[in-house]
Amino acid sequence: MSDVVQVLTDELGAAAIVSAERLRERATSYWNAAPTEAKCLVRPGSTAELASIMRICHAHGQTVVAQGGKTGIVEGAVSTAADVIVSLERMNELESVDTSDGVAVIQAGAVLQTVQEHVAGEGFLFPVDFGARGSCTIGGAVATNAGGINVLRYGMMRNVVLGLEAVLADGTVISSMNQMLKNNTGYDLKQLFIGSEGTLGIVTRVVVRLFPMPVSRDTVMFACESFAAVTRQLGLLKVGLAGTLSAFEVMWESFYSSVTAAGGPPAPLERGYPYYVIAEAEGADPGADAERFQRLLEEGMESGDIVDAVLPKSEAERRSVWNVREEFDGALPAYLYDVSLPIRNMETYVARLGERLLAWREDASCEVFGHIADGNLHIFVKPYDDGGHHETSDGIVYGCLDGLDGSISAEHGIGIDKRPWLGLSRSADELNLMRELKRLLDPQNLLNPGKVIN
Ligand code: ZN
Repeated sequence: MSDVVQVLTDELGAAAIVSAERLRERATSYWNAAPTEAKCLVRPGSTAELASIMRICHAHGQTVVAQGGKTGIVEGAVSTAADVIVSLERMNELESVDTSDGVAVIQAGAVLQTVQEHVAGEGFLFPVDFGARGSCTIGGAVATNAGGINVLRYGMMRNVVLGLEAVLADGTVISSMNQMLKNNTGYDLKQLFIGSEGTLGIVTRVVVRLFPMPVSRDTVMFACESFAAVTRQLGLLKVGLAGTLSAFEVMWESFYSSVTAAGGPPAPLERGYPYYVIAEAEGADPGADAERFQRLLEEGMESGDIVDAVLPKSEAERRSVWNVREEFDGALPAYLYDVSLPIRNMETYVARLGERLLAWREDASCEVFGHIADGNLHIFVKPYDDGGHHETSDGIVYGCLDGLDGSISAEHGIGIDKRPWLGLSRSADELNLMRELKRLLDPQNLLNPGKVIN
């Protein structure tokens, strides 16, 4: 047992430590079955315990990787045999829900879905939502500034966090647990940690905004013949639904056909249309909301923009519509991408990408889907050669953004995976300032080393 592991065991007790040997029985991440490598995993039971862990690691020059649900796809939480892993799985309580202010205080290890269900019991919506809800943690979602399917109405994690507490590399606890929507008292320190992917501090507790739980929900899947028709429908639904549109997911034919092929979820609409949309609105008046929703869809059909549609009549039918978007394991393996760009440039981008992939190799293809109202496209590039052509494929996917005002990462972050390409989306001066911040907060480069920036 290495020196630092012994000191951590003496300080916290053996029950708080998972040995290197036992860690190797666990997968690296949801996406990577290789064994987890680390000196050990430590499970603090409180912020004070995490602070003492960090003080010990700081004194030993020991690198630390914080892990949540390990569902991220940019290798942002991957450890090496030289690292100590910190998991906040024991700090998973929902400490309080203030129903008058609509504010909850949550420990970082709480699972997103558990939080959503708990606050729903109090009549509130926790709006950040995505496919990994059942395993990702609040701390991980904050550290990566997670997005997902409701961003168009409620924003990303950054937009719902009011305050947080984080432990720095040297064990200092920064408690910035603001509970108000308004608090203009100097630099907004919480934003340093949101989206920093565990490189500037480890988030331990979070204050989040809650929203009134909608009482009506209307969902539709419809098909369009052109991207112009898709964007017209987005505009009409945004205005016509008076801000209650909460999701607008677009699937290109390539993705839809691939996911609903043998073994995948059944296709709610027949295959072969160029575009499929799942739109969802949440409101406060079930009867009137459903009527308005259906009227807008009828207008879309009359104008010819919507060529086919299915309206789920039950939660089971709604689930089967959403499964097409969320249960995409049948379309894997593929290289997964997440880029953003303005809607006006999306068609150009996807066409350019298809051409350049084909020019690269004849059997290359892309399957596209995304939250287009957020400017966010997800792309599966095939064939998947188990890492063989990753760099070439990266170069094509990111290179096609050139001149289209895009970003190499919409919501997945940078991690290790996108680090070589960060310069395409950030200026030299921005990168320098990021490095200065890293040096200031973590001069020994102990926190999640090698992620985001060098
Ligand atoms: Zn997404």
